[in-house]
Amino acid sequence: MIVGIDLGTTNSLCAIFQDGKPQLIPNAHGGFLTPSVVAILQDGSVLIGDAAKEMRVTQPDRCASRFKRLMGSEEKIEIAGKQFTAPQLSSLVLRSLKTDAEHFLGETVDEAVITVPAYFNDNQRRATKLAGEMAGFQVRRIVNEPTAAALTYGFHDRNAEKHLMVIDLGGGTFDVTIMEVFEGALEIVATSGESMLGGEDFTDRLVSHVLQTVGKQLESAEMRQPLLVSRLRQACEQAKIGLARNEAVDIRIPTEDGLSDHSQVLFQLRSTAFLEMMEPLLARLLGPIQRALRDSERSIDDIDEVIFVGGATRMPCLSDFLSHRLGVRPRADFNPDEVVALGAAVQAALISEDRAVDDMVMTDVCPHTLGVEIMKELGGQRVEGYFSPVIHRNTTIPVSKEGMFSTVEPNQYSLELRVFQGEGRKVKDNLLLGTLHVTGIPPGPAGSPIAVRFTYDTNGILEVEAIVPSSGKRFSTVLAPASTGLTKKEIDKAVREMQQFKFYPRDEVENQRLLLFCERIVGEVSPFQRQELEAAIDVWEQALSSGDREFFESTKAGLLVMLSSLGFPFIGGNETP
Ligand code: AMP
Repeated sequence: MIVGIDLGTTNSLCAIFQDGKPQLIPNAHGGFLTPSVVAILQDGSVLIGDAAKEMRVTQPDRCASRFKRLMGSEEKIEIAGKQFTAPQLSSLVLRSLKTDAEHFLGETVDEAVITVPAYFNDNQRRATKLAGEMAGFQVRRIVNEPTAAALTYGFHDRNAEKHLMVIDLGGGTFDVTIMEVFEGALEIVATSGESMLGGEDFTDRLVSHVLQTVGKQLESAEMRQPLLVSRLRQACEQAKIGLARNEAVDIRIPTEDGLSDHSQVLFQLRSTAFLEMMEPLLARLLGPIQRALRDSERSIDDIDEVIFVGGATRMPCLSDFLSHRLGVRPRADFNPDEVVALGAAVQAALISEDRAVDDMVMTDVCPHTLGVEIMKELGGQRVEGYFSPVIHRNTTIPVSKEGMFSTVEPNQYSLELRVFQGEGRKVKDNLLLGTLHVTGIPPGPAGSPIAVRFTYDTNGILEVEAIVPSSGKRFSTVLAPASTGLTKKEIDKAVREMQQFKFYPRDEVENQRLLLFCERIVGEVSPFQRQELEAAIDVWEQALSSGDREFFESTKAGLLVMLSSLGFPFIGGNETP
C-alpha cells in the first residue's frame, strides 16, 4: 500500500487511495491535520502534532516547528539541548503519520508519495526524500504540491476542458502553477513561486506589529522573552484566523513573563488595518504569478479558474487583493488544507496502476533551469563562472535536450562539466548538482566541439551525457535530485538513530494534549478561575493515574465542562487553531 503524504510547514496529512477514491487518514486525535510540531518530554519521549503544538505555547524550548523551511540547509535546530536537522525532525512527523496509517489500515505501510512545494530545489527535494527514508518509507515519488492539488481536481472533474491557475499559499511556501485540463489529461504548463513566503510570515508580521505598539522588537523579544512571544504568536494566529469570520478581533498582549489574564492590554485588529499591514507580503505574490503567466505564454484572461490551495488562502484579504489586482475570484471546491494530500493519494494510485485512474494522464514541468558552467571571453580575457542553460525552466518533462560547448585550450585532454540548477546568470547564484569528468579528448584546436545532452525524467532524475564528436566517445552520469546523496549504509545508520526515539504512547496522547491545553489555559484565566481550574485538573490527574475508568471519565467530563464555561472549550481532532 502506497500512502500519499502532504508534509507541510504547519500541518501534515496522510491519505490513501481505497475503494476507487482518495481518502484521508485520521490521526490519534481523530483529526486529519497533524501539526508539523515535534516536542520532547522530560522522559525523552517524543510528542508529535496537536499535543506538541499545545506544548509549544508553554514550553517553547522543548518544541520545534516550521523546520520545513530549513530543508536542504545545514542548519541545526535545538530541542531540549539536543541538536537536530530538518530532515530528522520531518522524519519524526512522517513516522507519526506512518503509525496512524498502520493503525487505520491494520497493516504495515512502507511506501509513500511525498509532496513538496513546486519551487523546492533539488537539495530540498533530496532532504525530503531522506526524511521519508529515515521514517522507514520507500519514497516512490516526490510530487509538486500544486500538481497533487490538480490531480484531485482532475480526478473529480475529468471531462473538464479549461485553463487553471493554482495558487498555493501554505504555512511557509508559495507556489503558483498554470495548467490545462482536457479530457482527463492534466498538463502542467508553468510553475513559479517563493520558498520563503507563507501564512507564518503573515502571523510574524502581526506579532511584530503588536510588539511595536508596546515598544518591543520581535527579534530581541524572542531572545529575551520567549514565553511572551510564543503566547502572543498563538494569539495573533487565532486573530488572523478570526478575521475570516469577523470584521474586528481583539488580541490580548501577554505579560512580560508570558502570562495573560483578563486584565491584560488589548490590541484591536480590524480587517482593513490587517490588509494594509499585509500589503507588502501580498505584493510579493504578484511577481511569481506574472512570471508563471509569462512562461506559459498566457494572460490572466486565458485563465478560466483560479483554485486556492493551502491553509493561508483562507485569509479573506488574499482573495480581496487578488480580485482587486488581477480581477479574478478564486474558488476552493475542496478543503484547501486537504486537497494536496488527496492528490498525493491519486498519484499513488497512478503508480500502482489502479484501474480507477487508468484514463488519467498527467504531465509535469521542471521548475528550475538546468545548465552547465561556462567560461566567457570578455575584453580579451577569459572569465569563469557563467551559467549556460540546457533545459529551460517550465519545460515539459520527460525531456532530452542537447547543447554545444567547446574546449578552451588547444589539445585540451580533459574537462570538468559542472551542472547547475537555477535562474542566475552566474553559477554562484545557482545550485551545484554535480560534476561530470570528461577525459581522453583527442588532440585538436581550442574550440573543438563537445555536445552535452541533458535528459530529465518524471522522477526528477537528470542524466548528463557528454559526447566528443571527433572520437564519438561518450561520458555520462546520473544526477538524481531525489537521491539522498548518502550511501545505503549511511541511510541505514540514520534510520536506526531516528528509530531510537520513542513516541509517547499513542493511546495516551489525547490525555497528554488535554493536560498541556489546561496548563496553557491556567495562564490565561483570572486568579479566581485559576484556582478552580487547577483543582479540577488535580482531581483529573489523580483519576488518570488511579486506573479507575469511571472516576477518570467523570472527572474528565467535569474538567471539559469547566473549560467550556471559562470560554476555552477543548475541541478534539479536526479543530482549527
Ligand atoms: P498549511 O501549511 O497549508 O497547513 O497552511 C498553514 C497556514 O495557514 C498557517 O500559517 C495558518 O495560520 C494558515 N491558516 C489556516 N487556517 C486559516 C484561516 N482560517 N485563516 C487564515 N489563515 C489560516
